[in-house]
Amino acid sequence: VIELGTPQRAVITTCAYCGVGCSFKAELNGDQLVRMVPYKHGKANHGHSCVKGRFAYGYANHRDRILKPMIRDRITDPWREVDWDEALRFAADRMKALQDRHGRRSIGVITSSRCTNEETYLVQKLARAVFRNNNTDTCARVCHSPTGYGLGKTFGTSAGTQDFDSVDRSDVIVIIGANPTDAHPVFASRMKRRVRQGAKVIVVDPRRIGMVRSPHVEAAFHLPLRPGTNVAVVSAMAHVIVTEGLVNEDFIRERCDWDEFQHYVDFIRQDRHSPEVTEALTGVPAAELREAARLYATGGNGAIYYGLGVTEHSQGSTTVMGIANLAMLTGNVGREGVGVNPLRGQNNVQGSCDMGSFPHELPGYRHVKLPDVRRIYERAWGVAIDPEPGLRIPNMLDAAVDGTFKGLYCQGEDILQSDPDTQHVAAGLAAMECVIVHDLFLNETANYAHVFLPGSTFLEKEGTFTNAERRINRVRRVMAPLNGYEDWQVTQLLANAMGADWHYTHASQIMDEIAATTPSFAGVSFEMLEEKGSVQWPCNTDAPDGTPTMHVDHFVSGKGHFIVTEYVPTDERSGPRFPLLLTTGRILSQYNVGAQTRRTANILWHPEDLLEIHPHDAELRGVAEGDWVRLASRSGETTLKATLTDRVAPGVVYTTFHHPDTQANVVTTEYSDWATNCPEYKVTAVQVSRSNGP
Ligand code: SF4
Repeated sequence: VIELGTPQRAVITTCAYCGVGCSFKAELNGDQLVRMVPYKHGKANHGHSCVKGRFAYGYANHRDRILKPMIRDRITDPWREVDWDEALRFAADRMKALQDRHGRRSIGVITSSRCTNEETYLVQKLARAVFRNNNTDTCARVCHSPTGYGLGKTFGTSAGTQDFDSVDRSDVIVIIGANPTDAHPVFASRMKRRVRQGAKVIVVDPRRIGMVRSPHVEAAFHLPLRPGTNVAVVSAMAHVIVTEGLVNEDFIRERCDWDEFQHYVDFIRQDRHSPEVTEALTGVPAAELREAARLYATGGNGAIYYGLGVTEHSQGSTTVMGIANLAMLTGNVGREGVGVNPLRGQNNVQGSCDMGSFPHELPGYRHVKLPDVRRIYERAWGVAIDPEPGLRIPNMLDAAVDGTFKGLYCQGEDILQSDPDTQHVAAGLAAMECVIVHDLFLNETANYAHVFLPGSTFLEKEGTFTNAERRINRVRRVMAPLNGYEDWQVTQLLANAMGADWHYTHASQIMDEIAATTPSFAGVSFEMLEEKGSVQWPCNTDAPDGTPTMHVDHFVSGKGHFIVTEYVPTDERSGPRFPLLLTTGRILSQYNVGAQTRRTANILWHPEDLLEIHPHDAELRGVAEGDWVRLASRSGETTLKATLTDRVAPGVVYTTFHHPDTQANVVTTEYSDWATNCPEYKVTAVQVSRSNGP
């Protein structure tokens, strides 16, 4: 806390929106938060911010906040407001009864990438140490789980390789399936500054995003691929690098598994991967693709940044591994200015994955099947850990429909709005006998809940978030929790109501436990974060000041692993009934399902989701600017207004998913990444027709 003189003071904390993790000074007049000022010493943002972090914090005091717990026997009953004791007793008794009747694996949890590391750690601990199963998953399932798989297989850990400052040393910036100007605006500004200094940009994206052309940037190449063909484009770039002799052989001999490399080369040099052959498949002009590959391989330090346009596909994990192959082929790993960098969507996606939210991994990405790892937690927690991996979110929903999964504690997630194939999510939730929603607002998922536990905002809690560059930033309490408890305290109360004996009195004690059990966090504590401001993991005796660049002398996995990346078309096909391909994304002023930003003045900038359609496709359908259109797929249909633009190519339409009225995910498919079940949000065959409105 910095005293600014009576009555002003300021608390340094971290933005709760995107994975950039900007630091802010929350300035107060008495107990009243008066403004958020970007903090100039913040190492992720250096005094910059965007319209979300700076202005969209008013939801914390919004009248829609639910501040009292509520329960009901059936989801058709009205809610009954009760005190915390009664709500927690009701929830605990129901969950225990379900386990008694249906077995200990019949219930589970979903952690939130919006909550702190400490809160997330406690929720997965609730599943493992109290429910005694590994049924824990996170909303990263629907965004960056393929990053975990792909970077784990190739480099040995699920982590971006660089810090944000690294881009200042990049000569070529490759952006694949990410839209930084809308989704990571402060980092996009860093990229643009580097471009003004002479760096070249290659954009691989079906849409003409801001980094292709804007007042401050002109990309050297835009490869507007057909949705669903990422693997083919990345393989074609690798084909050019291999067949034109642009491989960094010294790097590969020293740093990578040579046999795997040779096997990969035999695969990738086949003519079927050439730009000329893949042009018909991907829609990307061969000459452009060839030139772009040459630029990445020979243009100096080449850095790849990617987002959900890579991961949210049936081959999301394959594309991540293909990107890692590109970086290893060219030696673009292990120093400043290069690397492979997932741009994480939510503020704490990185952290929620680090903290063991996945059903197969304990904190620090260590498989639950490993006895030595389980032993660490068995000693720390005093219980036996189930060696069987648990259920992923889609498996929980399937099992609920099948009648074997009965109860869910869902913290800070609105899976009914955010997850694909809304009808299936609703069916799964409706089949459960105890759904506990722990959130700020009565969200869509709460329609199927039996218990509602009020949540607290980032302004009301102590803890840490970990941003996209693995930077652990402090979150500090700016005001007292309006509901009386920080979220980690509620989880502790629920655990104790179910028979545990936890007695953390401050979030710092949870971080101490994380540090004691997780090697990559061994040097982290609230005291050291006070001293250093922030630190990037791994932070331990080998790296007491943290690790800005990963894989400097060797990969976490020892040698880097080349993986063969065969392109397999998605099962979602366009055809006469559904001739267009829908892809989805975000807009600058809004954030995900909009639960927070829709409750601030930001709503004025984006009051509704619009369907972007190319003028040619619009004309064929008699659709004019602003017309209502019906958007229909094999899964369902919705209605929204059209906007005509050549940002999208003919044959492709695009919308955002910020507004519950639109319910964009009613139309998205049930297909998902083969390795991780991350949903294929980015490819849905649709038809668009004029409509009279909803
Ligand atoms: Fe920074 Fe992202 Fe927050 Fe904007 S939304 S202020 S870029 S952390």
